[in-house]
Amino acid sequence: ATPTSIMVGTGRGAEMGVLFRKGEALQLLRDAKVVAVDKTGTLTEGHPALTDIAVAKGFDRDDVLARMAAVEAKSEHPVARAIVDAARKEGLAIPSVSDFASDTGYGVRATVNGDRIEVGADRYMIKLGLDVDEFSDTAARLGNEGKTPLYVAIDGRLAAILAVADPIKPSTPAAIAALHDLGIKVAMITGDNRRTAEAIAAKLGIDEVVAEVLPEGKVETVRRLKAEYGSLAYVGDGINDAPALAEADVGLAIGTGTDIAIETADVVLMSGSLQGVPNAIALSKATIGNIR
Ligand code: ADP
Ligand code: MG
Repeated sequence: ATPTSIMVGTGRGAEMGVLFRKGEALQLLRDAKVVAVDKTGTLTEGHPALTDIAVAKGFDRDDVLARMAAVEAKSEHPVARAIVDAARKEGLAIPSVSDFASDTGYGVRATVNGDRIEVGADRYMIKLGLDVDEFSDTAARLGNEGKTPLYVAIDGRLAAILAVADPIKPSTPAAIAALHDLGIKVAMITGDNRRTAEAIAAKLGIDEVVAEVLPEGKVETVRRLKAEYGSLAYVGDGINDAPALAEADVGLAIGTGTDIAIETADVVLMSGSLQGVPNAIALSKATIGNIR
């Protein structure tokens, strides 16, 4: 492509809210064979809400919710906000905590009124040596509904299973259809539960799902998909997406995302919608054409 066609292309992109931070990205996008996307905040709104809670025998629902909210008040994770908001909305008094610690990709823990409280994914409970079988049917049902199951343990005893749901952005289905029309595969990479991820992917017609990925695992997954497909674009919004954005042939950040994602990306989608991705690829094909 000539410098002029790249200038024209990046100018056209800016008009549609697609900011090319590197001219090279416009050329590379033309060859993208797969678009790998983060789930939370990219396909979904990124603001989950509490939908379900079931307590184990001997535990009080409001007490469990209040104490887990106390722990989550110390966490920045979107799941944490869902729990805290639910407890506040119900007018529950949220106690103070000590010894807060976060185990990234697993969950969080703290001491509340002398009791040890742990909140997180099933793999967190398993890591702590707890048996989650009691809730396995409930967890499967919640996952199949596209909800994320979470567990709470109090002093080493499983106290409750909960679920949060994060709505899909209204613009996501059409964006995925547009990528398919361009002959591009879509892969989802997420730290979320496998069933949950698969339910959402099925609803959206996503071609490949890589779930329960630990934060460090996103880059590795990008490397593997790149080798498999040839050329890969990655779309994400979070702090933990930055390494994957850097590893991709082209990294695209959601404009409403974190500063680190935006700074690492080659392209910024100002609208905050996935539709910017097929728009950018179509623009690349139109401006770069087949001239090498
Ligand atoms: P993602 O951003 O894709 O959800 P993470 O690695 O941040 O991936 O989290 C993976 C999983 O770990 C979450 O889906 C959730 O089940 C669990 N988790 C992480 N942080 C928390 C938290 N503060 N409270 C409860 N669960 C958490
Ligand atoms: Mg995200």
